[in-house]
Amino acid sequence: MSQSVNDLRRAFIQYFEQQGHRAVPSAPLIPQADPTLLFTNAGMNQFKRVFLGEETRAYNRAVTVQKCLRAGGKHNDLENVGYTRRHHTFFEMLGNFSFGDYFKEEAIRFGWEFLTSVVGLSKDRMWITIFREDDEADRLWQKIGVSPSRIVRCGEKDNFWQMADTGPCGPCSELHFDQGPSVPGDATPNGEGDRVIEIWNLVFMQFNRDSAGTLNPLPKPSIDTGMGLERLTAVAQGRLSNYDSDLFAPLLAAIGTRAGAQYGAVEQADRSMRVIADHLRAITFLMADGVLPSNEGRGYVLRRILRRAARHGRLLGITEPFLHELTATVVEQMGEAYHELRPAAGTVAEATRGEEERFIATLDQGLPILNDMLTKVRASGQNMLSGTEIFKLYDTYGFPMDLIAEACREQDIRLDETGFEAAIEEQRTRARKTGGFESETARPALSEVAARVGTTAFVGYDHLNSEGVVQ
Ligand code: ATP
Ligand code: MG
Ligand code: MG
Ligand code: MG
Repeated sequence: MSQSVNDLRRAFIQYFEQQGHRAVPSAPLIPQADPTLLFTNAGMNQFKRVFLGEETRAYNRAVTVQKCLRAGGKHNDLENVGYTRRHHTFFEMLGNFSFGDYFKEEAIRFGWEFLTSVVGLSKDRMWITIFREDDEADRLWQKIGVSPSRIVRCGEKDNFWQMADTGPCGPCSELHFDQGPSVPGDATPNGEGDRVIEIWNLVFMQFNRDSAGTLNPLPKPSIDTGMGLERLTAVAQGRLSNYDSDLFAPLLAAIGTRAGAQYGAVEQADRSMRVIADHLRAITFLMADGVLPSNEGRGYVLRRILRRAARHGRLLGITEPFLHELTATVVEQMGEAYHELRPAAGTVAEATRGEEERFIATLDQGLPILNDMLTKVRASGQNMLSGTEIFKLYDTYGFPMDLIAEACREQDIRLDETGFEAAIEEQRTRARKTGGFESETARPALSEVAARVGTTAFVGYDHLNSEGVVQ
């Protein structure tokens, strides 16, 4: 078969339809009535109630290509983007599901057959991971012909999957692919680097974790699987990076034309182009699903994504709004698979442009100050940006925390987290005090400021404490 991204997407659906699965459309990126989730982060989200036994469907096997966004909450890859070859904010997750129908044996057989027979990946390059105590999965993989030397047992972190702190979960088994010694990194799964790449996660859904952390058995053991289409495409096309597959080529070419740069020439510029390509997809799909930039919740995540892309445009030397034009490339490429995109194209471009214009004003004012601070920090030999300075950039100049953090990371400068927390706290106390004496008319404005400091401070901590250490 052809290995183009569109053919792979189709082949997946077709294969599972032949195995008796109902093709179900992708749910929106905004979860429907699920307060535990900011964005849809996996194919199983729309079936959560079915797994829990709270809802039944007319089918007990399903196959989907689900729009996902991992830029907040339990699964957050925002800071990985640009730095790894395999993480995106927005991506498409291919998945097959069994609702109390088949279990481990068939899930393993389908996964193996699709990758090695339909797509034609070399069996010798595959690695399998299983949950530490899952002897049954071990036996089933061997039964299908996988050598015990290619089956690795792992702990909760990698092989016990859960969508959020509560909800359906279970042990899992993953298919990984060795891209060979030319790729830096460990030669075994879940190690350092991108050499052995995780492609597909088969989750054996068996429990519902409640808010006390207790695992309660589900009414019926079920199957939930997830495979990133971008990774599958790269591997099937023999590319070492998702960004080198036919999926990203048109977008990177369009960004290159706009920036007067060629992807693949200079690593630093490449990283910026990867960030922009990734974020353009997230921006377009989020807006098409009704999210607009704002100062809280989902809108704030979108704002951070858009501003990060804009800043990387600046790093490439683009000083005018440009993202809005490039959203058209995303619509053109993805419009056929996702029908919500074309009708939304105008609104997406317009909203993107508005946000870019606002942020350019912020950048024009704040960037020289940030650069100046970083130069002084380097000259002092301390390599640490003080809490007061972070606070000034953030509060006076409206720089999102993650932009400050990334600019520092690029120059190996650390952030004084404790100092920043103290500055935020001081600001809060000040706001509270002023609140006590405010006049009737001033109240809304002041409470708005206090609220903004509250929400953004949370995002700041989240970022600073995130365990998402990259590279
Ligand atoms: P990784 O270890 O690479 O971060 P994961 O274990 O967090 O991936 P899962 O939650 O198991 O990922 O999701 C199932 C599949 O979805 C993965 O095997 C991968 O193919 C894909 N996937 C996960 N996160 C991303 C992402 N940020 N961008 C693109 N694809 C992803
Ligand atoms: Mg991950
Ligand atoms: Mg993993
Ligand atoms: Mg995984």
